[in-house]
Amino acid sequence: TGQNVAFIGLGNMGGPMAANLVKAGHTVTGYDPVPAAAEQAIGNGITMAASPADAAANADVVITMLPTGDHVLDVYLGRRGNDAVLQAAPAGALFIDCSTIAVQDATAAAQHANEAGHRAADAPVSGGAVGAAAGSLTFMVGAPADFIEEVSSILDPMAGRVVHCGEPGAGQAAKICNNMILGISMIAVSEAFVLGERLGLTHQALFDVASTASGQCWALTTNCPVPGPVPTSPANRDYAPGFASPLMAKDLTLAMKAADLTDTDARLGQMATNIYRQFGMGEGRESDFSAIINEIRKEPVE
Ligand code: NAD
Repeated sequence: TGQNVAFIGLGNMGGPMAANLVKAGHTVTGYDPVPAAAEQAIGNGITMAASPADAAANADVVITMLPTGDHVLDVYLGRRGNDAVLQAAPAGALFIDCSTIAVQDATAAAQHANEAGHRAADAPVSGGAVGAAAGSLTFMVGAPADFIEEVSSILDPMAGRVVHCGEPGAGQAAKICNNMILGISMIAVSEAFVLGERLGLTHQALFDVASTASGQCWALTTNCPVPGPVPTSPANRDYAPGFASPLMAKDLTLAMKAADLTDTDARLGQMATNIYRQFGMGEGRESDFSAIINEIRKEPVE
């Protein structure tokens, strides 16, 4: 049966996610400070509130889909002039943060929610705006086992897959570890294609070998950084994202923050972070992260 869901942050991801909750029969009250986001939400059957706290006043479930951990904690705790959503929501409400934020921000947010008498989960996603619109996102959930079923049933209309990763914070941990693999492996695949070019190897020949040999990985077989071998990869449409380079830089930065705090040797992760930060702030601003191959092709590193 339909529940009262507050949805805070109706941007590229939150907008279509909230629309799928309406379609599933939930009553969704939203908040986003950007007028265009609010207008689109109203068109999708969402009732807009005057503040995050107002949106949460009658909520069974409070979902946030915000840019950073600071935004999430601001909304939860009512910093920066807004009333605290944690105070406004009815006791025992279920808080689900779907933003990609630092692990320690996620555990802090959950702890604050618990102290205010609520239940809390982190549930970052992969699948991008396309997956958000299609309701096929993968959710990586950090939540206590006793209410994971309830979290899953709320996420279901937005999800292709819901993976329970552990206690609060574990969803964010899984997300940044996965994306660290992805960032490093895309650079590895790109370096190999450029080296192959210089050795006179065709893209197709390298692809045919590596895709069925031990170099096989998603960066190669699904998001191949050269046009041709995988017709659906962003390389075939001038690297239109896809997964934009600045978002890869953001996730790698969160991974390095976690590596630092846990004394983890992640030298390749750090290199990938530096490479994507530079690319994401410059030429790669609007490109899929696989466009890093063009950077690698430019000139040898001195
Ligand atoms: P976005 O910038 O399009 O949307 C964020 C929205 O939050 C904006 O509309 C903004 O106005 C709103 N906002 C800011 N402060 C607010 C506040 N105090 N109260 C309510 N709303 C507020 O970003 P997005 O692409 O939707 O990404 C959201 C999160 O999802 C990020 O953490 C991102 O890293 C993560 N993510 C994005 C993608 C993707 O492909 N876009 C994929 C996976 C995860």
